[in-house]
Amino acid sequence: MSSVQPIFERLALIGVGLIGSSIARAARAENVVRTIVATARSEVTRRRAAELGFADEVVEANAAAVADADLVIVCIPVGQCGAVAAEIGPHLKPGAVVSDVGSVKGSIVRDMAPHLPDTVHFVPAHPVAGTEHSGPDAGFAELFVNRWCILTPPPGTQPHAVDRLAAFWSALGANVEAMSAEHHDLVLAITSHVPHLIAYTIVGTADDLQAVTRSEVVKFSAGGFRDFTRIAASDPTMWRDVFLANRDAVLEMLGRFNEDVAALARAIRWADGDQLFNLFTRTRAIRRGIVETGQDSAAPDFGRPHAPLPLAPLPRPYAADSE
Ligand code: NAP
Repeated sequence: MSSVQPIFERLALIGVGLIGSSIARAARAENVVRTIVATARSEVTRRRAAELGFADEVVEANAAAVADADLVIVCIPVGQCGAVAAEIGPHLKPGAVVSDVGSVKGSIVRDMAPHLPDTVHFVPAHPVAGTEHSGPDAGFAELFVNRWCILTPPPGTQPHAVDRLAAFWSALGANVEAMSAEHHDLVLAITSHVPHLIAYTIVGTADDLQAVTRSEVVKFSAGGFRDFTRIAASDPTMWRDVFLANRDAVLEMLGRFNEDVAALARAIRWADGDQLFNLFTRTRAIRRGIVETGQDSAAPDFGRPHAPLPLAPLPRPYAADSE
């Protein structure tokens, strides 16, 4: 996977949280770029990035970061991308490839493209990889390995710019596919955005229940609910922006979801076990497909670490009676 010649000379990362810092770590590990310059909004994050040392330079201003870069990747919440494009637009180097990592693509094209000069190549991207953690300490070099990175070049984008960015993401370990921004937003609405909305809702509903205390929710958070709490711990700023930016596709998928939930409720009410069994059989096959393509682990309990069983046998309350 290691590239012999760097694909880009100088990479500028605007934002070095989970995604930006993971790109920096992976690009450096794989020798995909010669130098990396990074920036972030706050002094605290810039200082931490400098301490962690995944970039060659950490600078204060977005405009200063992009000045000499031949690849610029904007790695910030979707709602900020338009303003940052306006800031960096006049300072971009002619011929540079400008990209992003936003989880929504239609709004990124709408908000960023008008601020970018004709002399640069705009190739929006979305690495479909992440965790519920944020910030520069959360990143790691292997984040993108065997994950998909979706490119959504606007019509008319020069193919060589798309190919170079595709080569960059492949070198980071990702599988790359291109599609339109509209199609991306529809697909991700059902595979990522609505599932997050359901997780936020179910954890919020449990927290609101009067008859179940918050300590019980934490204590008995077995199986399904525990997995929802992990997703519902995702960054509030990022996800607020995702839902506002992908409103139409999310509402479309949510409408379908609500209809299907109503049908399931009816099946339960009328004791239609066949309907439940058939659906659960179909969904189990989808899970198997995800494991078979290496998108998730088949390890028992996802390979989570467990406390060992006690070495001594547990005391048996009725031992004296039977022995
Ligand atoms: P994050 O960990 O919260 O990091 C965001 C970074 O953006 C921080 O370094 C922040 O700096 C910086 N930033 C915010 N506004 C800025 C501005 N105006 N100028 C310069 N820097 C700015 O977020 P993330 O998880 O990496 O997400 C970043 C993007 O990746 C989002 O668009 C998200 O949709 C997308 N994405 C996320 C995931 C995921 O699972 N997390 C997966 C795929 C794609 P400060 O710390 O100083 O505020």
